[in-house]
Amino acid sequence: MVKSTLKQSLGCACIILFLVQCNAPKKVKFEDPVNTKDKAITRQQKKTYSFDQPKVWISNEFNGARLNNAVQINDSVIEVQINPENTPINKSPYFAFKVWSDHPYSLYIKFRYPEGFAHRYVPKIKSQGNWQRVDSIQFQSTEESALLQLNIDNEPKIIAAQEINSTADVKEWYSQNIINGNENIVHEFSAGTSVLGKNLPVLDIYSGNPEDKPLVILMTRQHPPEVTGYFAYQHFLETIVSGTPLSKEFLENHRVLAFPILNPDGVDMGHWRHNANGIDLNRDWAKYRQAEIKQVVSYITKISKQDNNKIVLGMDFHSTYEDVFYTNQLRNTTTLPNFENDWFALLEKEISGYKVNEAAGNSTKPVSKGWFLYGQNATGITYEIGDVTPRKRIAEIGEKSANAMMRILLGGSH
Ligand SMILES: [Zn+2]
Repeated sequence: MVKSTLKQSLGCACIILFLVQCNAPKKVKFEDPVNTKDKAITRQQKKTYSFDQPKVWISNEFNGARLNNAVQINDSVIEVQINPENTPINKSPYFAFKVWSDHPYSLYIKFRYPEGFAHRYVPKIKSQGNWQRVDSIQFQSTEESALLQLNIDNEPKIIAAQEINSTADVKEWYSQNIINGNENIVHEFSAGTSVLGKNLPVLDIYSGNPEDKPLVILMTRQHPPEVTGYFAYQHFLETIVSGTPLSKEFLENHRVLAFPILNPDGVDMGHWRHNANGIDLNRDWAKYRQAEIKQVVSYITKISKQDNNKIVLGMDFHSTYEDVFYTNQLRNTTTLPNFENDWFALLEKEISGYKVNEAAGNSTKPVSKGWFLYGQNATGITYEIGDVTPRKRIAEIGEKSANAMMRILLGGSH
């Protein structure tokens, strides 16, 4: 009796283990593995720094802020210290803080970074709800130093490396611009939670029956400061749900899983690149050691199995110094071996004066682009927008590249 119970429970345990393993997403091998086990980060102290002569306040007490210290140099210069969450780290020294005074004043902000890092982003200023890039008279930077002249008053201004788009901003955007009015085709779910318990939203987009439709995955914000890529993502997704005849036909025949914010902790903590565990999420697409990637990969795997959706294309939106599409060289094993060539040809045809900048290579490190290729036999593209690409141009590229993608996936007749 005892023996048979033991046998039974062992049998059960085996079945459970088997089921768990069945549902666990397949790991993917890469040539150059990256250790993505947790690394310590240094948290910035949240505080408002106040100075007496003149009366000036500088604060990092809001989501998306990054300011590690502020020191008064003299009556017209305040030096701000900006540090990364940990090192080694890519050179994307993101900063964001609020500044105000008790009366109108001309103040200089001097930027200070740890050794080995120089100023990268031209500051943007948010005042009265609008973001503006500072002009070249106001701002000078060299390898050694960066100095910003500011006219401040008692109305707080936000100074940031790029326009802040916090998790709350992202939620507001997709609620208003993607879901609102499209409730019959856009379904909001959660893929899980980040290391610090923030939601990982996913928008499941299709019309009619989701079963058997080819699946397109769109994701962004693995790297917090890369908001120009996020801007392209916004226009891209808005075009997919725009209700044009093309968009309608596309969603009758395809399913899109859109992840609008993959690193919510990093975004709200004003990180230069990593998640709350100090890890670059776009190096974790082999063994999924980080909560964010593990749950997103599990979610994609679960959906595609459950409704028999074949993943055909994955795009991951980022920013760098210039517009560039990172593609895979290996294409003949994918479902859409001609996608890149057809898509790039259409982009050059449709966007005035546009020359595609493609960098083709097979991912050797565990990035999402490689995961689509090696793990799914799907086309994987890292869609990069330049830091300073004009925001109107990003809108045009985002919209036209979405239309081109839909036309190609629907086949020749469009
Ligand atoms: Zn990136």
